[in-house]
Amino acid sequence: MPDTFAPVEVGLHGVTKRFSDQTAVNDVTLNVHEGEFFSVLGPSGCGKTTLLRMIAGFEHPTSGRIELDGVDMVGVPPHRRDVNTVFQSYALFPHMSVWDNVAYGVKRKGTRGPELKKVVGEHLELVRLGQYAKRRPAQLSGGQQQRVAIARALAAGPRLLLLDEPLGALDAVLRKELQIELMRIQREVGTTFLYVTHDQEEALVLSHRVAVMNAGRLEQVGYPEDVYERPATRFVAGFIGTSNILDATVSGVEGGWARLDAPGVTGLRVPLLTRSVKHGQRVAATVRPEKVHLHDLDDEPPTGWCVLTGTVRDVVYTGVSTQYVVDVPGGGELVAFVQNTRRTTDAGAPGQPVRMAWDPDFTVLLESEHR
Ligand code: ATP
Repeated sequence: MPDTFAPVEVGLHGVTKRFSDQTAVNDVTLNVHEGEFFSVLGPSGCGKTTLLRMIAGFEHPTSGRIELDGVDMVGVPPHRRDVNTVFQSYALFPHMSVWDNVAYGVKRKGTRGPELKKVVGEHLELVRLGQYAKRRPAQLSGGQQQRVAIARALAAGPRLLLLDEPLGALDAVLRKELQIELMRIQREVGTTFLYVTHDQEEALVLSHRVAVMNAGRLEQVGYPEDVYERPATRFVAGFIGTSNILDATVSGVEGGWARLDAPGVTGLRVPLLTRSVKHGQRVAATVRPEKVHLHDLDDEPPTGWCVLTGTVRDVVYTGVSTQYVVDVPGGGELVAFVQNTRRTTDAGAPGQPVRMAWDPDFTVLLESEHR
């Protein structure tokens, strides 16, 4: 896996884009490294496409700087950037065969004869469409058309491939299949992929690193485990997976930990890691539902765990796990996911009191909102 010591392929420095009174991208600073599969994840309208379009050169930043391979892109038109884009809509040439579609960008670079045949053949094999070379796009399924689009974009040999929700038009099963394919393709070619999606699971599965975007700003950049296990903000905690948010007051700071007071929870503690907080400060903390265990009232949770007693409101069976939504004293709710590893799960029925407990190592302190 490429690491952050690899050279920087895309450098964004305080990039902002305004459309009249609308700020689509707001002061984004970000490095994407050579060979990375990097995803920008965020809800519809958060500015993901605008960010990609600026990197491709179709839009210009209102302020800030974009560098590709260390070169400032100001004034460099799209066709002079070593970048190609794959769109959700495939954008294939309908009147051309699969082979001609893939050959298009290669020919534009002046490649002809046996070399052209070799490059096109290799890229059709890369996306496993060798036997479809003579077909027209309309004679292919959506998934196959997207493979052609990927082969066409890669055959021209760009240093950077931008992918704007490329699997967005496909059904769930095909999406999963193509996710695996995309990971394999990126591993094989080693080209830097900058991938845009609103699908959090897709971003976690595919990427070496993920940037979470909200309302034009970056909320967090990190490895998939970072953004899932240690969300930086309330937005990231809520957008990626399900989270329990606990509004609390700091009641003590000691040995790298903060003790927190929150209604109904005893022993609530949070590791501070690199953060610092003050006694009496209002903070928000989160714990993922799968980290929360359910206990009978007469069953003592392990010493040192955070414990809360509430009343089961809903029990939702989801196959792999059962979700327990528990009303907590003082209002609010806490959710626990219990893995269905046994034939039946009998952790509590609606209306029953239940004890919830978790290892304080899994409590995460959230940054205060910057908006
Ligand atoms: P989606 O996932 O729905 O495509 P997105 O995260 O890619 O959304 P963008 O398409 O980048 O978001 O749009 C960000 C914001 O900028 C939106 O509010 C959008 O309406 C606005 N916007 C984008 N392009 C333009 C434009 N050409 N003129 C005016 N506003 C624009």
